[in-house]
Amino acid sequence: MKDQFTLIVRCGEVALKGLNKPYFERMLADRIRKVTKAYEGISVVRSEGLIFVRGGAHHDVEKVMADISKVFGVASISPAMEVESDMEKIGEAAVEFMLDLIERKGVKTFKVEAKRADKSFPVKSPDIGRQIGAKVLIGCKVLKVDVHKPEAMLFIDVRKDRTYIFEQKLSGFGGLPLGTNGKGLVLLSGGIDSPVAAWMMAKRGMLIEALHFHSYPYTSERAQEKVEDLARIVAGYTGNFNLHVINLLPIQEAIVANCPEEETTLLVRRFMMKIAERVAKDRSCMMLITGENLGQVASQTAEALVVTDQAVTMPVMRPLIAMDKVEIMDRARDIGTYETSILPYEDCCTVFLPKHPKTKPKLEAILASESLLDGETLIEKALESREVVRIQPTL
Ligand code: ATP
Ligand code: MG
Repeated sequence: MKDQFTLIVRCGEVALKGLNKPYFERMLADRIRKVTKAYEGISVVRSEGLIFVRGGAHHDVEKVMADISKVFGVASISPAMEVESDMEKIGEAAVEFMLDLIERKGVKTFKVEAKRADKSFPVKSPDIGRQIGAKVLIGCKVLKVDVHKPEAMLFIDVRKDRTYIFEQKLSGFGGLPLGTNGKGLVLLSGGIDSPVAAWMMAKRGMLIEALHFHSYPYTSERAQEKVEDLARIVAGYTGNFNLHVINLLPIQEAIVANCPEEETTLLVRRFMMKIAERVAKDRSCMMLITGENLGQVASQTAEALVVTDQAVTMPVMRPLIAMDKVEIMDRARDIGTYETSILPYEDCCTVFLPKHPKTKPKLEAILASESLLDGETLIEKALESREVVRIQPTL
C-alpha cells in the first residue's frame, strides 16, 4: 500500500448508457488520462465497468484524487488496497488496512460491507463480511463493530483476480464525459451566472468555447482579466478552450444615438446574440449558452426573453432558467467561481444602462427600432474586432 496506490473510479450515469456504454467509458478513461498526464507514471485502466488509476509513492494522492473528481462522468473515487482474491489474503490485508486507519484517524468502530462481483468465488457476500469482520476484530483489539453508526465502513469488493479493500468515497460531480455532446458557445460575462451555465452544459458532455463582450474604454482591462480568471476556473473542468473577445462599444453608441432609451438593453442583447451566432457557426458550435434566468432582471422577463430569442435561429441553452439565485450562488461556490465573480468590476451591460428599461417589450417595436440601424455593418465591424485568448486551467 505504501509504495503504490490504487484509486477506484466509478462511472456515474455513464453506466446507464446501454449499448453505448463502452464508448462512454472509453471517453471517460480518456479524460482521466488527460488530467493525469502531468503526473509521470500513472496508469489508467478500464475493467468491469470501473476505472483503475494506479501510481507510485512519489505522487500526491490527494491532488490526483482532486483532479479526477473534476472530470465529468466520475461518480466517486476511493483509494483502495489491492490483494489476491483469496480469503486468507483478504483477511490479512483487511487487518493491515484497519490498523492503518486506527493509527491515522483513531477509528474505534467499523462495519464491513462485502460484495462478490465474481460469483464463482466460493464464499458468499454475507459470509465474506462475517469472516473478514471476525479477523479484523482479532487483529485490531481496539476495534468494535457498530452496524448503525460506524466510524469507518470497510468495503470489500471481490472480483475475479483481485479484491479491493477501501473505506471512503470521494464524490465526483457525475454528468457525462466531455466531448460526448457536441460543442456550444457560452456568452461569458464577469457575473455569477454565466460561468455556472457553462459548467452545467459542460457537465452534460458539451465542449465549450466562450465569447465575452467589452466596452473598452468604458470597461477596464482589469474587467477583462477578471473574465479570463473566471474562464480559467471553468477550464479546470473543461480543459483548454478559446475565449473570443469582442468590443461592443460602437454598437452600444449607435443604439444610444438612434433608438428609444428604454429599449437599449434589449437591443444590445439582440446584437450580442446575433454576433454570438456568427462566432458559433465559425467555430462549429451548435448551440449558444447563456446565464439567463427567468425574472432575474428587466432583460430576463418572459417577454424580454422571447424578444432576445427571436434574434437568432440557433438553439439557445439557458441551463439556469428556472433556478433561484441562492441555488445558483451555491453552485458557483461549489465549483469555485463565486469569489471571482463577485469582484467589483464593470460589465458592458452596465454601460449606458437605461433608467426605465422595458420589461414587456413588443417584438414589432424592437424590430422597428432595429431597422433604424445598419445592423449588418455594425455586426461585421464588431466581428473584425474579435481577439482570441487561449484559456488554460488555473494551476
Ligand atoms: P451574469 O451573472 O452571468 O453576468 P446577469 O444576471 O448579470 O448574468 P445579464 O447581465 O442580463 O445577467 O446577462 C445575461 C446573460 O447574458 C449572461 O449570463 C451572459 O450569458 C450574457 N452576457 C451578459 N453580459 C455579457 C458580456 N459582457 N459578454 C458576454 N456575455 C454576456
Ligand atoms: Mg452580467
